[in-house]
Amino acid sequence: MRILITGAAGFLGSHLCDRFLAEGHDVVGLDNFVTGHPDNIAHLIGNDRFQFIRHDISTNTYVEGPLDGVLHFASPASPIDYLELPIETLKVGSLGTHNALGLARAKGARFFLASTSEVYGDPLVHPQKEEYWGNVNPVGPRSVYDEAKRFGEAITMAYHTWHGLDTRIVRIFNTYGPRMRPRDGRVVSNFIVQALSNEPITIYGDGSQTRSFCYASDEVDGIYKLFMNGDSNPTNIGNPDEYTVKQLAELVVELTGTRAPIVYEPLPKDDPKVRKPDITRARTMLGWEPKVHVRDGLARTIEYFKQHVGTPMMAPRTPRPRPASAAR
Ligand code: UDP
Repeated sequence: MRILITGAAGFLGSHLCDRFLAEGHDVVGLDNFVTGHPDNIAHLIGNDRFQFIRHDISTNTYVEGPLDGVLHFASPASPIDYLELPIETLKVGSLGTHNALGLARAKGARFFLASTSEVYGDPLVHPQKEEYWGNVNPVGPRSVYDEAKRFGEAITMAYHTWHGLDTRIVRIFNTYGPRMRPRDGRVVSNFIVQALSNEPITIYGDGSQTRSFCYASDEVDGIYKLFMNGDSNPTNIGNPDEYTVKQLAELVVELTGTRAPIVYEPLPKDDPKVRKPDITRARTMLGWEPKVHVRDGLARTIEYFKQHVGTPMMAPRTPRPRPASAAR
């Protein structure tokens, strides 16, 4: 097959490129490097089954030649990134999804949407099954991501029912592993970078909020199986192994042997209190379940970040400038 992946230079997008190439498919990668990085696909340049196009999927998009699959993975995905890029995030989830759907339809390709556990918002049902509609603040700071992804799901379903397009929707739960941007602001990257740099480890709130962490290779395996053998209904792919943020901090301290202290900072607005996928659907439909325990996955991720200690990637983050018109 010939597969287009948007967000190909991102954390998950680049792992997906690797997986599709390893399975013998040809891959066209597309990215505008807003949050993705050329380093993530540097090893693929020169592979004659991989083609890269630098382009913003939120604008008109045309790709030459046949396509059998279009996977839309482009989007800022860490809360800090999407808070700094609110309009871009809304655009890539709405206009970008529309453009990618249009391309899939024109080529007669299967369409695959990277959605998110954030569609469940601050969930009132735990663990989260696909049937749960969620609890999202439509005008809160996280809405730029949550609502864009919810719109993405709605328009994907509309293309499926109205145009008969073959579609998939994955709801990705917190995923971590090599190629995460060290300073992308997410909890796993923050804690590991802080531990390796002997900077204070920043727990937001009291650390009692929970997340369930899936290692990248498990996530990509679930996504690949869903693409190949799934159906059009949204499907959770994540690891149901649930931890409090405080437990995660303690685990990172133990695995890195850091001397860094743990400090407590204010909890961001609308931060979900719990999150854990119910993966019954993926288990029964795809025969998929995660294999990598969080201790092993964290150890591998720590090794990856260690290779970057002292490089510009590990340098403290400089916030993106806000437009002068932005409300404070
Ligand atoms: N978090 C934290 N310290 C950090 C970064 C994040 O305590 O340095 C918390 C955050 O408040 C949230 C959880 O860790 O409760 C997961 O945050 P992340 O940004 O990774 O993703 P989210 O699941 O919120 O989208």
